[in-house]
Amino acid sequence: MANRPALFNRLALIGTGLIGSSIARAARAQGVVRSIVATARSGATRARVAELGLADQVLDTNAAAVAGADLVILCTPVGQCGQVAAEIAPHLADGAILSDVGSVKGAVVRDVAPHVPANVHFVPAHPVAGTEHSGPDAGFAELFFNRWCILTPPEHTDPIAAKKLAAFWSALGANVEFMAPDHHDRVLAITSHVPHLIAYTIVGTADELGQVTRSEVLKFSAGGFRDFTRIAASDPTMWRDVFLANKDAVLEMLGTFSEDLSTLTRAIRRGDGDTLFELFTRTRAIRRGILSIGQDAEAPDFGRPHERMPPVPRPYVGED
Ligand code: NAP
Repeated sequence: MANRPALFNRLALIGTGLIGSSIARAARAQGVVRSIVATARSGATRARVAELGLADQVLDTNAAAVAGADLVILCTPVGQCGQVAAEIAPHLADGAILSDVGSVKGAVVRDVAPHVPANVHFVPAHPVAGTEHSGPDAGFAELFFNRWCILTPPEHTDPIAAKKLAAFWSALGANVEFMAPDHHDRVLAITSHVPHLIAYTIVGTADELGQVTRSEVLKFSAGGFRDFTRIAASDPTMWRDVFLANKDAVLEMLGTFSEDLSTLTRAIRRGDGDTLFELFTRTRAIRRGILSIGQDAEAPDFGRPHERMPPVPRPYVGED
């Protein structure tokens, strides 16, 4: 990696949990940045980040962390982004790229953009990769490998800045796609947010069953429930913020989902096997489509952190 020039001099990570610490590990492994500065809200997390050696410097405040950084990435829960942007705005370096990793884009753009100084390039991003774990110990360098990272730059963003951030994510192993923020939020509502809500609901419902039944639920969880429990173990703060921030798109998709659930309920009540069979055949084909484009494997996903990530070729972006 040493023979490939770094894309950025100084990367500042505001928030060093699962995503921030994975970026730190991957950026270092791929030689994409010369140095990394990290911070987090609590002293305990900052101390752990320092102990793990994830950054060259771990600083106490968001304002201090961004000074002199040419790439700043907000890796906090979505609900914190606006306040953090206001805190760091006066300290951002001239020409810096400011980005984020939030799972919702419309709300982040709305909350962050008003604080961004004219001499800073704001390029929001969402790496569509994660696990149900949180905190700096949960991250790993291969998290973004062969996953999508969606960039949602506002209309008049400098194309060089957007291209440079795209090159950064490519270097971390991700496939990059550009989208409008609202479109991103509708796509993610159905592919990620509503599935998480369903998992939270079904695990909550099972938990409310009687004690004897609950122990059987755990014992026989391989029958499908287990996969829901993994998703329903996802971070409560992060997901509360996602549903509050993506309210409109989630409610729209939930409306459609509820109608489809009613159709299935009616089919079961009426003994209408054809309706059930037709839907299950269609959904099986969707699963096969996901496997065929390499977005999942037949084997359970347990081994991902140990996946080998090859060195990623670096495109030239016109600077360095
Ligand atoms: P996480 O593991 O809980 O980490 C969040 C980090 O943000 C922690 O280091 C936390 O510090 C820090 N933080 C919170 N408020 C802060 C503030 N005001 N100033 C500075 N640092 C602050 O969460 P995560 O899973 O990495 O998620 C981070 C972001 O990535 C979210 O916006 C989420 O939507 C997005 N995302 C998550 C996933 C996923 O699967 N997890 C996937 C894609 C995108 P403390 O530990 O001290 O509280």
